[in-house]
Amino acid sequence: MKSIRSANISGQSVLMRVDFNVPVKNGKVLDDFRIQRVLPTIQFLREKKAKKIILISHLGQPDIKDKNKSEFSLAPIADHLEKLIGEKIYFTATLIGKELKKEIEKLPDGSIILLENIRFYRKEHENDKNFAKELVKIADIFINEAFSVCHRKTASLYAITEFLPSYAGILLEKELINLNKVIQKPKHPLVVILGGAKIKDKIFIIEKFKDKTDYILLGGVMANTLLKANDFSIGKSLYDKEAFTQAKNLRTGKTKLFLPGDFIVLDKNNQKQIRELGKITKDDKILDIGPIACDTFSKIISKAKTVFFNGPMGKFEDTRFGDGTKVIIDAILNNQKAQTIIGGGDTLLAFKILKPEYRIQNTEYRFFSTGGGAMLKYLAGEQLPGLQALSK
Ligand code: ADP
Ligand code: MG
Repeated sequence: MKSIRSANISGQSVLMRVDFNVPVKNGKVLDDFRIQRVLPTIQFLREKKAKKIILISHLGQPDIKDKNKSEFSLAPIADHLEKLIGEKIYFTATLIGKELKKEIEKLPDGSIILLENIRFYRKEHENDKNFAKELVKIADIFINEAFSVCHRKTASLYAITEFLPSYAGILLEKELINLNKVIQKPKHPLVVILGGAKIKDKIFIIEKFKDKTDYILLGGVMANTLLKANDFSIGKSLYDKEAFTQAKNLRTGKTKLFLPGDFIVLDKNNQKQIRELGKITKDDKILDIGPIACDTFSKIISKAKTVFFNGPMGKFEDTRFGDGTKVIIDAILNNQKAQTIIGGGDTLLAFKILKPEYRIQNTEYRFFSTGGGAMLKYLAGEQLPGLQALSK
């Protein structure tokens, strides 16, 4: 993999794939962790006198028919970036074609340009070569600075590398160095905490971790799905049917897999209740793990020497259901002996909401990754297409 530091940048137009997929509400960025982490790279490119810095990102998972929906537009992110950098950020709704090329050529040297949501194009998902060829017309070199999407084989990460000299960004390198540090020789007990809502992406990770980890603690929709697939009643709780086959046939090897034995639910009168597994009624909706699960999980975390954490334990955005995730966060922060890797957009947002006094900061033994699914896959020893493309 070639490093951005070895690239000849001066006078070149640089196309950089970033991940500015951050939570946005009513046109305001709620958490800019991922944007902040790319600022040093943008600074680096400016110091090296890049002719143009063209940024590509996605936001959310829009459908083709969502193309004009403002909730998927990167416009608010351009505004936010402008405030952070203190300079004009050019934003363009056109992504490809001659028009864009003309538009960009008109801009002064050193300009930073953010393109609209790349996922508005189906060909991005399809890793379409012709689409990638269109994209590269506006640039001389490509930089992958989007570790968190490297687990997806898409045009702006994969096919694109066939048509431009391609380099790993500063943040991407930092992610790999920090993750490599823990996976090369992890100290045991190794505890993996998995929650959240993106089940299809993550459920197979459980099996990948078998025999490598000592404990896997499950919460969130991940736990719901596993329980439901194995015929436990979970009432009206959210789960992912598409992951059922995997959830039923899960082999965990030597790893001790822990599911919550109690939950916080909303009952049929919309009242918050504690419910033990086995006593969940058909109208209950699981929204957090219960106090006994919190206790069990924290004890395990307190003895860990290595911890990987991705995915909130409950619907933490509603603070009534944030306790489970907060207990896990506290247990992680209190264990200062463990090498800890924490990642995922919502997981980091949970730190911000539930632990506002804590400043998210990397230390010798704790690393906050910008990746969720990508981080898990990498930690589990999977090949990531985005990285493979850079190594070719
Ligand atoms: P990350 O972004 O950290 O990788 P995910 O995107 O997989 O995490 O999942 C985060 C989402 O999961 C949050 O929006 C949270 O509200 C949701 N969630 C977790 N547990 C539940 C639950 N029991 N019911 C509904 N939503 C849940
Ligand atoms: Mg998420």
